[in-house]
Amino acid sequence: MRNAYLLLQYMFSEDKLVYTPVCYFDLKSGILCPRCEAKLRSGEISELDIEVAKLLVNVESKFPQLQKASFIRAVDTGEHTIIVFGQGDLARLNPILGELRRVVSDKLGKPAIILENQSDPRMLIEDLLSPLRIVAMNTLWIPDGTRELHIIVSGSKRNLPISEKILHSIVEKLYGTSLRITFEPPIEQRRGVKRRIQKTR
Ligand SMILES: [Zn+2]
Repeated sequence: MRNAYLLLQYMFSEDKLVYTPVCYFDLKSGILCPRCEAKLRSGEISELDIEVAKLLVNVESKFPQLQKASFIRAVDTGEHTIIVFGQGDLARLNPILGELRRVVSDKLGKPAIILENQSDPRMLIEDLLSPLRIVAMNTLWIPDGTRELHIIVSGSKRNLPISEKILHSIVEKLYGTSLRITFEPPIEQRRGVKRRIQKTR
């Protein structure tokens, strides 16, 4: 009797499970409660969020590291599924990140990109661009009222770890702003160029 009680307590103690924007019970039963239903209708969560949340709940026994993580949301870029976890979760998920990405990509039918939620787009973009570095970032206000994020990246476009198109799409979907990237050669390289020019004179 006591064991059954403990089992029930375990099943419903949400602090031991991956946190998702949908109730754990809804994900297990396949039926949304009125609160989650309202979130879906208002657009606070999407069908994709529910699909990914369900998937994560189903694989968390295989990946116990997920149980301390928070799934924030998922975004479909067309070619990829971006899965955003809470701040600090990537370090926690690090030992299983490759395997988790593979499993999730398989189930969703397209490659997944796993990211950590950052209120500052600079940190998120820097994670995506690593080892390239952002040397400057500013927000430009376009006369039509929209914003454009302009970043200057030290390095060559050739060395971008992901395609520029995906990068644009991620920033657009997560921050609602368009992105402009200017590439500039690293400082050491520029000095080298200058020196060579001076020598030839
Ligand atoms: Zn619910």
